[in-house]
Amino acid sequence: MFFIFGFGKQTVKELGTSEKIRCQNCGNVRPWEYKKIRSWFSLFFIPVIPYKTVYIKSCPVCKTGLKVDKEEAVNHMQGPDIHDGLTDVQRNYREQMDTYNRKD
Ligand SMILES: [Zn+2]
Repeated sequence: MFFIFGFGKQTVKELGTSEKIRCQNCGNVRPWEYKKIRSWFSLFFIPVIPYKTVYIKSCPVCKTGLKVDKEEAVNHMQGPDIHDGLTDVQRNYREQMDTYNRKD
């Protein structure tokens, strides 16, 4: 029995766009794109565990990217992925835990 595993597979998720920003690199004034980039630990070529997550905003013209805080990126999330891909069960669990923790 042996395992095939690896690091380094990356997935990119679009999180929406910012207000217009003047790019210092190309000078264009455009809404920048927020993205979440995850690096995955994979087993048998299937990504199983994200071991690193970075949030960036990038210029749509020249693709210059800047690292941003998660909070900033999440504020621009749009659509059904806003809960980070959690299932309803996971979301309910998390909400219940939040309620529970608040009672202390
Ligand atoms: Zn640019």
